[in-house]
Amino acid sequence: MAEQVAERIRTGGEVEAVAQVIASLAKHFGDRLVTGRAVREQHANSVTWLPNEAPDAVVFAESTQDVQITVRACAEHGVPVVAFGTGSSLEGQINAPEGGISIDLSRMNRVLAVNTEDLDCVIEPGVTRKQLNEHLRDAGLFFPIDPGADASLGGMASTRASGTNAVRYGTMKDNVIAMTVVLANGEVISTGSRARKSSSGYDLTRLFVGAEGTLGIITELTLKLSGIPEAISAGVCAFPTIRSACDAVILTIQSGLPVARIELLDEVQVKACNAYSKLDLAEQPTLFVEFHGTEAGVAEQAARFGEIAAEYGGGPFVWATRPEERSKLWQARHDAYWASLPLRPGARAIATDVCVPISRLAECVDETKRDIEEMGLIAPIVGHVGDGNFHTVTLVDMEDPQDIARVKDFMSRMVKRALAMGGTATGEHGVGQGKRKYMEAEHGTAALDAMRAIKAALDPKGIFNPGKILP
Ligand SMILES: Cc1cc2nc3c(=O)[nH]c(=O)nc-3n(C[C@H](O)[C@H](O)[C@H](O)COP(=O)(O)OP(=O)(O)OC[C@H]3O[C@@H](n4cnc5c(N)ncnc54)[C@H](O)[C@@H]3O)c2cc1C
Repeated sequence: MAEQVAERIRTGGEVEAVAQVIASLAKHFGDRLVTGRAVREQHANSVTWLPNEAPDAVVFAESTQDVQITVRACAEHGVPVVAFGTGSSLEGQINAPEGGISIDLSRMNRVLAVNTEDLDCVIEPGVTRKQLNEHLRDAGLFFPIDPGADASLGGMASTRASGTNAVRYGTMKDNVIAMTVVLANGEVISTGSRARKSSSGYDLTRLFVGAEGTLGIITELTLKLSGIPEAISAGVCAFPTIRSACDAVILTIQSGLPVARIELLDEVQVKACNAYSKLDLAEQPTLFVEFHGTEAGVAEQAARFGEIAAEYGGGPFVWATRPEERSKLWQARHDAYWASLPLRPGARAIATDVCVPISRLAECVDETKRDIEEMGLIAPIVGHVGDGNFHTVTLVDMEDPQDIARVKDFMSRMVKRALAMGGTATGEHGVGQGKRKYMEAEHGTAALDAMRAIKAALDPKGIFNPGKILP
């Protein structure tokens, strides 16, 4: 599905170095080292419109030691190493623009310990979010971070992912307690203990969360877990305009209502979800909302939310009372990206996200919506709006250079608008290749230099995921 397969020109020395690494790794990994084109291309970006830039080989790691062996061989010859979880990242994070070795961590998928009394678990990085929640269900616990894709926890930590529950439970930065990481010299470090808090030293855990595999390879994670709430209630509420829906979200958050999920879908996205997920929602801007707590607490929260929604002309609030109805609703929300594709058959989708302080949400979404209409784009808006985070999924005709230019202009305007409102170029998808160009505008030269200094200290040869994050 990618735009094109990029061509790379490499020096003779680079080609030789890669050949030596592959020869040395083949001795250790046997058929767990694959150089076939199809597998290599599957390990580069295939989800979005960014080009597919395949690695030279893929290693299927099964242990921390496998990762160490791979990293040491690559470090010796100065060959790039790109970690791979499930490949669902959206900004070209897994591409190998300079070639090298992809380390596929999906076979490192064991849940090593569940400490129910401490509400934490220790897992390997290839465990996916759904796999973990299946494992935890009987213990009455769950892991709340839920990106639309069934991503790996190592990949989610590395992109600082979030999802529909983040407004209540936080993002990966709040839910990773500690990690085991293989550094560029092959050394293995632990970034922390299982203690819930610590004032000891630099916070290495948060340094590796969101590093997109540019500083080290995570081979174990200790995660915070939450108890499955006694009562859950969810429902949908339609609004006359997107502005009124956002205003209701702002007041909900400012009132301190502990909503567990509050998701916006504009009328274009609702129409797409109705068709794709067989829903029959009114085709209006709509909030999907969920409350967690005791029976009494949930009822009280829902009543208060109903009052807020009514203040902005929203309603009626339609409850999804049975667990199957709730699952259908949230599955539809998670499938919003796929639901958007048929809105323009043959087009490619560009999912982009920005995040602004909550007080600026309505203004930012409203202006973005106006831009979409004035530019004549098909770009449903959907978002984890309780955090001030929203996405557009813009459909673009890759055969039409004018259309591509228009869409690029739209996305850059969206980022500039978010930055001007005190926000960020990405609330959860990360930087990868696609958003490197905004790093300077968002962070400034001095902060970028500090990031470069960290990168140079931890990865002096620049072997980890080159061409990502830092411009
Ligand atoms: C339909 C759809 C919906 C989505 N919805 C959301 C959403 O709601 N919220 C959200 O945050 N994202 C969302 N995403 C994006 C994506 O799911 C996340 O970015 C996810 O965190 C990527 O995980 P992954 O396992 O696929 O990682 P990959 O794509 O395999 O890797 C992502 C990055 O992490 C690095 N990496 C992977 N594993 C490791 C490791 N063990 N050690 C070090 N580095 C590593 C890679 O090198 C790469 O830079 C969505 C994507 C799709 C396709």
